Amino acid sequence: MVRKRIKTFNFHYSEMHEFGIARKLLGDALAEAEKNRAEKIKEIAIELGEIADVTAEELKEAFGVVAEGTIAGKAKITVEMEKPKIKCLKGHESEWNREKEFSDGLFLDCPVCGEKAMLSGGNGRKVKKVVFG
Ligand SMILES: [Zn+2]
Repeated sequence: MVRKRIKTFNFHYSEMHEFGIARKLLGDALAEAEKNRAEKIKEIAIELGEIADVTAEELKEAFGVVAEGTIAGKAKITVEMEKPKIKCLKGHESEWNREKEFSDGLFLDCPVCGEKAMLSGGNGRKVKKVVFG
């Protein structure tokens, strides 16, 4: 139930298939290579939220497919998991306690001050590092 509600935070959900995600990340990595005039990508480090709508395994597999034939075709893909965090209206950041229910379908209570808090991370996926050569 909670998992489903979280998707309201993700405005691009409709196109979020693992291949779409992999293609986007590959595009970012290739752009980085172009900027650096690199001819080959050796490694790509990806940061993936623990509650993102794709698993590390699915993403790695999809990446292997979409990267084939590109300069990232033989790149080693490493995935670093990001913990979900929440941030309240007063700016306190905490780890998300998944036992807690959302009130109003959107808000959580800040464990520090009790103010309304929203999810502020843990569902993203991005390229953290590209190693060339
Ligand atoms: Zn707070």
